[in-house]
Amino acid sequence: MLTAIVGINWGDEGKGRMVDLLSSDYDIVCRYQGGNNAGHTIVNEHGKFVLNLIPSGISREDTVNVMGNGMVIDLEHLVNEIEGLKAKGFKISPENLKISDKAIVCMPYDKLQDCLEEDRLADKKFGSTKRGIGPTYSDKYIKKGVRTGDLLNTEALKENLKGIVEWKNLTVNAYGHEPISYDEMLQWLLKYGEIVKPYICDVSSFLNNAVKEGKNIMFEAQLGALRDIDYGIYPYTSSSTTLASYGPIGAGIPGKKIDCSIGIMKAYSTCVGEGPFVVEMFGEEAEELRKAGGEYGAATGRPRRVGPFDVPASRYGVLCQGADVIALTKMDVLAYLDRIPVCTAYEIDGEITKDFVTGEKLNRAKPVIEYLPGFGDVSKCRTYEELPESAKDYIRFIEKETECKVQYVSVGPGREEYVKIF
Ligand code: GDP
Repeated sequence: MLTAIVGINWGDEGKGRMVDLLSSDYDIVCRYQGGNNAGHTIVNEHGKFVLNLIPSGISREDTVNVMGNGMVIDLEHLVNEIEGLKAKGFKISPENLKISDKAIVCMPYDKLQDCLEEDRLADKKFGSTKRGIGPTYSDKYIKKGVRTGDLLNTEALKENLKGIVEWKNLTVNAYGHEPISYDEMLQWLLKYGEIVKPYICDVSSFLNNAVKEGKNIMFEAQLGALRDIDYGIYPYTSSSTTLASYGPIGAGIPGKKIDCSIGIMKAYSTCVGEGPFVVEMFGEEAEELRKAGGEYGAATGRPRRVGPFDVPASRYGVLCQGADVIALTKMDVLAYLDRIPVCTAYEIDGEITKDFVTGEKLNRAKPVIEYLPGFGDVSKCRTYEELPESAKDYIRFIEKETECKVQYVSVGPGREEYVKIF
């Protein structure tokens, strides 16, 4: 069984928490895109911790975690993450963490380029996390990337890096920055590469064998559908493909198809960084929701933009992700509201539509807001029957509008704090 767990909205839907919950049913959890530009927060018996690069299955001892070729990996960050988790009692070894030899290394000069570019753009910036993700993907597609597999052959690495640094310096010089040093880059690669090397392997053969043996494999996305490089709110997107159908390709088994797509959807909307966010709330109303939901970026600590549930965006997200079912998260956060605002449609140039739009038209969209009855505290509910009728109405509303069934409702950050509907 090949399952993708993916975000329906702008990211931060609580994917990490759902993967942590569901990973007991899976033998293997794969990350297939992105880098350390986002974080998954998980709360379980090990305490609360944030994962930026390592798949969420790491918290289960018998789950194998794969970092796929679709990822970009900052080796220094990875080493810190591994050491931090080990210090918390996690067991991490080449047995339960496997890194594709085809992933691209996110280099210090990529971070530098990200910062130089974001500073140059000033008030026109795209909201990059300045972790070098965009430049690393650019390196990959212009075929100037350092692959993790290159770390296994020092002589070839030394030779290839020369040309790459020379090329990168053309860009760095254009920004008026002093040239990057080949020696420093090589030392950085050798230092962190030495620690990461044992985990690097041909994950494709491992995964293909696992499929043959009938193992359950999960593909874990980072960031949501609206941040997909092609289908999201370009250019305010991530630099990679966040969609479920890319899971097998970015993980290492391009010939396989997923059997199920579980879409993680928040009971309200949040968005980190720049770009159009039609349902954005401001002032006290926003602050209340932000506080109730603890909406501050897991990787960067940035306050998130917040708003009500967005029907057009969520319908679109379900479609892009091919979601078979929805896991609705953070229902408990809405407890403080007597009546819950929801955006049922957009008004664009005088026309009402439930269809999401991308491009400049999205800037002219205004939310059509309606209210549903509040449902109070649902944090103690563990069965569908225990949910108040108004909470069930809220769920039914979401199912009807997105044309997708809600299978799970998360009512708290802890592993057991959820309701399974079917
Ligand atoms: P991800 O990147 O999609 O995994 O999302 P985040 O890491 O931003 O996780 C969302 C945050 O919400 C984390 O702090 C989680 O512990 C927390 N969280 C997840 N699900 C729930 C829930 O149902 N209720 C509450 N109150 N918090 C949740």
